[in-house]
Amino acid sequence: FTVLGIESSADDTCAAIVTSDRQILSNVVVKQHDLHESFGGIHPFVAIEGHQKNLARAVRKALGDAKVAVWEVDGIAYTRGPGIGGCLSVGSNAAKTLAASLNKPLVGVHHMQAHALTPFLTTPLDSLPTYPFLTLLISGGHTLLLLSSSPTSFKVLATTCDESIGRVFDKVARMIGVPWGEKGLGASLEEFVSQHDDRDGTTAPEGWEEVAIPTFPIPMRGTLSFSYACLHSTLERYLSNHFPSSHPPSSPLYTPCLPHPIKLALARSFQSAAIGQLEEKLLLGLRWCKNEMNVDVRHVVISGGVASNLYLRRKLGETLRRISPDKDKPIELLFPPPALCTDNAVMIAWASMDRFLAGDHDDYSIELRSKWPIEELDLTSAKGSA
Ligand code: ATP
Ligand code: FE
Repeated sequence: FTVLGIESSADDTCAAIVTSDRQILSNVVVKQHDLHESFGGIHPFVAIEGHQKNLARAVRKALGDAKVAVWEVDGIAYTRGPGIGGCLSVGSNAAKTLAASLNKPLVGVHHMQAHALTPFLTTPLDSLPTYPFLTLLISGGHTLLLLSSSPTSFKVLATTCDESIGRVFDKVARMIGVPWGEKGLGASLEEFVSQHDDRDGTTAPEGWEEVAIPTFPIPMRGTLSFSYACLHSTLERYLSNHFPSSHPPSSPLYTPCLPHPIKLALARSFQSAAIGQLEEKLLLGLRWCKNEMNVDVRHVVISGGVASNLYLRRKLGETLRRISPDKDKPIELLFPPPALCTDNAVMIAWASMDRFLAGDHDDYSIELRSKWPIEELDLTSAKGSA
C-alpha cells in the first residue's frame, strides 16, 4: 500500500511517499526559517503564505523522487491537527482535493501520534518496543511524558506547566545570539556547544569571573510536571543585569552582542539544565509506572524535534544504563533518526498506515482539529469524527 503524506502544521512544508512494507520512497521538507528569522519565531501569516507557495512543488517533488505517478498512490494522509489552524488548512485542502479527484481514500493524522510512532518505521523489526512503554515527546509545541499502551492509546503522565522545551531552546538561542542555521535555532545551539569542548558550563570562563554564569534551575523537583519558562527568565535577568541593551532580551528588536566565552558558557549551561530536567522526570516516570501502575517499562521512545539533539541522546542513554537493575538488559531507548525527529511527512504517511490497511478512512468533509489532545485519539480514530 503506497501513501502520499502531507504535513503543514507549523512552519515546514512537507510531502513524502511511504509504503506499508516500511519503505521511505521520498521525503521532501521545505524549511521556512529564513522567513521567520526577523519575527523571532513562527509568524502564522508568513507560515501560511509559505505553505501556499511551496506545497504544490513539494508534492510534485515527492512523487518525482519516489518515481511514483499520482494515480499509483493508494491513499492520501495529511496532518489534521494539532497545529496552527491556517497552516493545517493549506495541507488539508490539498490532501482532500487530491483524494477526491483521484477517488482515493483519505486519512487525517494526529501530528503528535505521528511523532510518537516514527520509531516503528525506522527501528529494525526484531528491536521494536513492546507495549506498554514510555514515550517522551519533546518538540516546538509540546513537552509530554506518555504511557503508550497501543498505537492509539496514550495516557498523559506529565506535560509542561508553561512553555515547551523546543520553544525555550529557540528563545535562549536567539537571546544568546546563536545564528539561525539550516536546521533551525535549537539545532544551531546544540551545534554551537558541540563545536567546542563538552564540559558542563556551570563555571565562568577564565577572565569573566565577575559575571559568573547563572545556574539554570531544574524546577518542580519531585513532581512529574515539566517547567521550562524559568530557564529563559533566568537568562533574561542575567543579560539585563550584566549586558544591558536598549531593548530587553525578550524583545524581537534585541540584538545580542556577547563575548564568545560568555555565549558558549551560557549555551552549555542552559543545554545541560534543559536535558537534566528531562532525565529527572523520566526517572520519576519510570518509578511511577512501577509503583502506581505495576508496569515494568522495558522501552522508552523519544521523538519530536528536540530528540534530534545528540547530547540528549548520550545523556539519557547513560542514565538508563546506570539505573537499569539488569545491566545486561538495560531499559532500551529508541529514537527516530535525527532527520525524522523534526517535522516531516514520512511520519504522517506512516501513522495513517494501520487505518488504510484496515480499510478505515475519513470522509472528504472531515474538519481540522487545531487543538486535539492526544488522549482523545482512541475516541476519534474509528471514523475521525470530532
Ligand atoms: P509540535 O510537534 O509540538 O507541533 P513543531 O512541529 O513546531 O511542534 P518539531 O518540528 O517537532 O516542532 O520540533 C521543532 C523544535 O525542535 C524547535 O523548537 C527546535 O528548536 C527544536 N530542535 C530541533 N533540533 C534540535 C536540537 N538538535 N536540539 C534542541 N532542539 C532542537
Ligand atoms: Fe512537530
